[in-house]
Amino acid sequence: MKQAKDFYDHLSGELQAIRDAGLYKTERSITGPQGALVHLESGRELLNLCANNYLGLSSHPQVIAAAHEALSSHGYGLSSVRFICGTQDLHKTLEARLSGFLGTEDTILYAAAFDANGGLFEPLLGEEDAVISDELNHASIIDGIRLCKAKRYRYKHDDMADLQRCLEEARDTGARFTLVFTDGVFSMDGTIARLDQIREITDRFGALLGIDECHASGFLGRTGRGTHEYRGVFGKIDIITGTLGKALGGASGGFTSGRREVIELLRQRSRPYLFSNTVAPMIVGASIAVLDLLEGSTALRDKLEVNTAWFRQAIQAAGFEIKPGTHPIVPIMVHDARLAQALSAKLLELGVYAVGFFFPVVPKGQARIRVQISAGHELAQLEQAVAAFAQAGRELGLIKATP
Ligand SMILES: *Cc1c(COP(=O)(O)O)cnc(C)c1O
Repeated sequence: MKQAKDFYDHLSGELQAIRDAGLYKTERSITGPQGALVHLESGRELLNLCANNYLGLSSHPQVIAAAHEALSSHGYGLSSVRFICGTQDLHKTLEARLSGFLGTEDTILYAAAFDANGGLFEPLLGEEDAVISDELNHASIIDGIRLCKAKRYRYKHDDMADLQRCLEEARDTGARFTLVFTDGVFSMDGTIARLDQIREITDRFGALLGIDECHASGFLGRTGRGTHEYRGVFGKIDIITGTLGKALGGASGGFTSGRREVIELLRQRSRPYLFSNTVAPMIVGASIAVLDLLEGSTALRDKLEVNTAWFRQAIQAAGFEIKPGTHPIVPIMVHDARLAQALSAKLLELGVYAVGFFFPVVPKGQARIRVQISAGHELAQLEQAVAAFAQAGRELGLIKATP
C-alpha cells in the first residue's frame, strides 16, 4: 500500500500538471467592497468588468442598511438548520416575497444556488423517471442530476430538434415523469434560453420544465423577473432555481421556487436543506430590501439595459467581434487562447479588469474576454473601458490601427 507521503506527492504532481497546462487559477485580492471600481492590495484602482453584480446592489446603501438592521434585530446567525431552530419570520417573508416576484406558489431557501440545484432532483425523481438537460448546463445542475436515479438525457446546446429527440426517447422508453432542465441564461455566451419554444415542446409531451435563473433574476424581462418574463412564459415554468449571490444583492444564498407540492417535498427530503445551516438573517433582511427596490422601480434594470446596449454597440464599433445578443454578459471573441490572455493582461495594465476564458472552459478556438456590464457602471466608465479595449486591441494587432 502506498504511504500518506506518496499521496501528498501525488497531489503536488497534479498541481504541477494544472500549472503546466496553463489552467492554474489564481485569486486576486481586492481590499474593499464590490463595485464598478475595485481596489487591489497594491492600492491600484481597477474598473471592474467581471462581477455578477448586474444591478450594482452588492454595496448599495439601502441593501447595506437593511443588512445592518436585520443584524441588530435578528442576530448574526441561527446556529441551526431550518427545521430545528433556524426559521425566523424573515425567512418566511423572503420566501413569500420571492414567490411573488417570480410568479410561483412557494419558495425554499438554500445556503447557495449550488445547493438548490444539488438538492433538487434526487427528492423529486426516481429511477422510473427521466431528466433531460442542455449539454451546457451549470456544474451544479450536472451534479444534482448525478445524485438522482432518473434516466439522463442531454440535448445539444440550445437545439430544439435535439430536445425533441430526447423527449421522444424518454417517452418511448416508458419514462413515468420527465423533467427538462436548463439554464435560463448560459454564462459563457450570455445565451438566453428559448423558453417559449421549450415550453411549447415540453407541453406537447406533458413534461415538466425547470430553469436555473442565476444570471437572470432581478434584471431580465421588462420588470426584471427573469428569463420567463423575457420570453413571455411568466407563470408557466414548473421549477425555478436561483441565487441571491449575483444580481439580487451578491452575498450568498439560493432558492428553489415552484408549485406548493414541490417545495413542500423539498423541505422534507432535500439534503442540502435538511443538513445545512439556515441563511444568515442579515442576508435575508437585505434580500427583502433588494426585492423592495426592484418591485418599487425598474430604474436599475433599465439602466443596465441601456448600459448593455451602449457597450455592445461601442465595442463592435471599435472593431471587436462579440457574440450577438442582449444580455449584459458580453463575450468579446479573441479565438486564440494566448491572445485572450495577452489582451486581459494589457487591459489590466490600462486599469481595466476583465478576464479571459479559454479551453477547456469554452471550446478550442473560441477564447474570449467575458465582460459583464452593470447598472453600477457610469457611461464615462464604459467609455473608458472601450478606449482601453481599443488601445490594447491595436497593440496586439487584434483590430486595425484606425477604425
Ligand atoms: C453562479 C451559478 C450557480 C451557483 O450559485 P451560488 O448561489 O453561488 O451557489 C448556479 N447556477 C448557475 C447557472 C450559476 O451561474
